[in-house]
Amino acid sequence: MLRRKEIIDQVPIYVPGKPIEEVFKEYGVSEAIKLASNENPLGLPNKVKDALIKNIDQLYYYPDGKAASLRSTLATFLNIEENQLLFGAGLEDIIQMISAAFLESGTNAVMSGTTFPNYKINALIESAEVREIPAIAGEHDLLTMSKMVDNTTRIVWVCNPNNPTGTYISHDKLVTFIEQVPKEVLIVLDEAYYEFASASDFPDSLLLMNEYTNLIVLRTFSKAYGLAGLRIGYAIAAPDIISIIERVRKPFNTSVLAQIAAIAALDDQEFMRNSIALNRAELEYSYQELDRLRIPYYRSQTNFIYMDVGVQGKNIYEELLKFGVIIRPMVGNYIRVSMGLHEQNVRFFDALEKALTEIKSV
Ligand SMILES: *Cc1c(COP(=O)(O)O)cnc(C)c1O
Repeated sequence: MLRRKEIIDQVPIYVPGKPIEEVFKEYGVSEAIKLASNENPLGLPNKVKDALIKNIDQLYYYPDGKAASLRSTLATFLNIEENQLLFGAGLEDIIQMISAAFLESGTNAVMSGTTFPNYKINALIESAEVREIPAIAGEHDLLTMSKMVDNTTRIVWVCNPNNPTGTYISHDKLVTFIEQVPKEVLIVLDEAYYEFASASDFPDSLLLMNEYTNLIVLRTFSKAYGLAGLRIGYAIAAPDIISIIERVRKPFNTSVLAQIAAIAALDDQEFMRNSIALNRAELEYSYQELDRLRIPYYRSQTNFIYMDVGVQGKNIYEELLKFGVIIRPMVGNYIRVSMGLHEQNVRFFDALEKALTEIKSV
């Protein structure tokens, strides 16, 4: 047997959303829709497409490891200093870097039991202990999470709004929580869905950073900006936190075209406004349909809805594939469904109704 990290055989494998091509092949359907990975249904912004085509010849160069151009554009956009930014090949890259820089055997990371799986996977890879605190009604149990922090805790993961439940933590609740966590412990605020959050009491995490020095905020171009396939995301924190994580960053971790695309995406705020408006309208439509079908769900601050379909999520997932609809099965009777274009969401609810009838009749 090969000598290897003791923990490695116990690290769970991340299960991604099913690619559309697989459904074509396995189910013989000619047309499928993917509502499984929270991608932007409007596709790539036009300004990004133009920039990519225009700059394709740059690809023989190594990327700028510091992403200087994107760094200055984004720093201006966010009204922060350039040395407060860290770039990654998506947030999954940044989550891995944070884990590598902060965790080791004998330390622990505190997180919700119902949240983004990468926090746990990366903590295990670093041989750290994972402290998962069961969610309450889809929300982080912040009080218990703060009580689970001890002097071997290195990171507390806070996903806001939360994937997969779509719920959020208000400004007041977040501040109370931050006050309860020792300032020697890094608090990560994963705001992958920040642009979709519309609640008036959603926290302004960049403002909180002025008061609390142990915060790092994660945002991505994968979701609302529509660049999931390019792999680019970023973190915002105090320069001393950023420089710790920079030590584990691969020198060329973000590609030439991803950096160019991100700059173009920031310049296309009209696309952003359209994305958000479409998402709001489709969340409202979906709530109506869910109420009509008497399916319980959490109201969402994101571009997906977590719902309790009353039968095994795995079963409904399989049944929906026959209709060419790809969603994400979750634990027990839960599924997570991304907001698509209106006609896609109509098709989803039509398929869901039929699939539920089908499953309940056997
Ligand atoms: C999608 C997602 C990420 C990862 O996004 P990237 O595509 O790697 O930027 C991180 N956190 C949450 C909560 C997500 O839903």
